[in-house]
Amino acid sequence: MQQQRHPLTAATPGTARELVSLHFGAPASGQKVYIQASLHADELPGMLVAHHLRQHFSRLEREGLLRGEIVLVPVANPLGLSQTLLHVPQGRFEFASGENFNRYYPSLADQVEQAVAQHLGPRADHNVALVRAALRDAVAKQPADTELASLRRRLMGLACDADVVLDLHCDTEAVLHLYTGTPLWPQAEPLARYLGAEVSLLATESGDAPFDEACSQIWWQLAERWAGRHPLPMACMAATIELRGFADVSHPNAERDAAAIVAFLTHRGVIAQPPASLPPLLREPMPLAGSIPIHAQQGGVLVFVREVGDEVACGDVVAEVIDPYDGRVQTLRSSIDGLLYARDNRRFATAGMRVAKVAGREALRSGKLLSA
Ligand SMILES: [Zn+2]
Repeated sequence: MQQQRHPLTAATPGTARELVSLHFGAPASGQKVYIQASLHADELPGMLVAHHLRQHFSRLEREGLLRGEIVLVPVANPLGLSQTLLHVPQGRFEFASGENFNRYYPSLADQVEQAVAQHLGPRADHNVALVRAALRDAVAKQPADTELASLRRRLMGLACDADVVLDLHCDTEAVLHLYTGTPLWPQAEPLARYLGAEVSLLATESGDAPFDEACSQIWWQLAERWAGRHPLPMACMAATIELRGFADVSHPNAERDAAAIVAFLTHRGVIAQPPASLPPLLREPMPLAGSIPIHAQQGGVLVFVREVGDEVACGDVVAEVIDPYDGRVQTLRSSIDGLLYARDNRRFATAGMRVAKVAGREALRSGKLLSA
């Protein structure tokens, strides 16, 4: 294993931070895999999974079983990890800008297309290599004038030319689920199976450019532009894995999730050992546009009457919001048939607050599909 340290732009003198990446295997010896944890710095299940993955990858490297390079970033957001307000960690939004750490990654399709247009040919592998080289150049030219910009550039620089990108997050309270690009589903399905994902949510454009989509979207954008002229496969399988809820930080879960990721990489041929047989797919994927939030209409004590992982029908009561002054009880119902896959971990709702999400089969929403 090699450890690399990447200094970030210091916001103020004397506060320099760095990103640390762990490199297993050898570059250009097979596929490149990039895995990062806790880009939302207060989402910690992934950080523990990374701890277990480090041990797996170190052993596999010692045994000479890696066919490619694996880059593991166990703390993807040292900036967010340092943010605390009134004793509560604040890892989702940067204090300075208010920006979500997992949004606003660059869309580089135009720049890359311009750089490679004259050199494309009939061979897909040739075109993939061209696009990756142009991507590395384009990312290197991204601004790093603020600490956040330098963090985004470093993360993209490590990931943009990978065959597999796994971004480890969690929800507030949730069953294990994942987000990935619709065109990537054939490649992502084995991952969903090994992880035992209760649902996979697919989109081609989630809105506001989250990290995984910034890595993968360029491939279907360019493939569409070049259709019938230059072959281009979906050369980056990127997914955001939601490792249940904030509090689901335990060795049994993390060991299981790390083993599932190792099994997926074995299935892909990155690890030279017999692949574990594929477990069943728990549920067919659903459109991200079919994930329907449930909102509180009034403030009050939030009491859930259904658990995450429950199948609910349209009209089913999922929660109550109780006004403690006058005793008014508002019932919150699902507006669709689907899977109650995530709910808030707070137990006091404010008017308008989104308290739960139900995944359904019909794409009912449009526009920006992710929460703040
Ligand atoms: Zn997250």
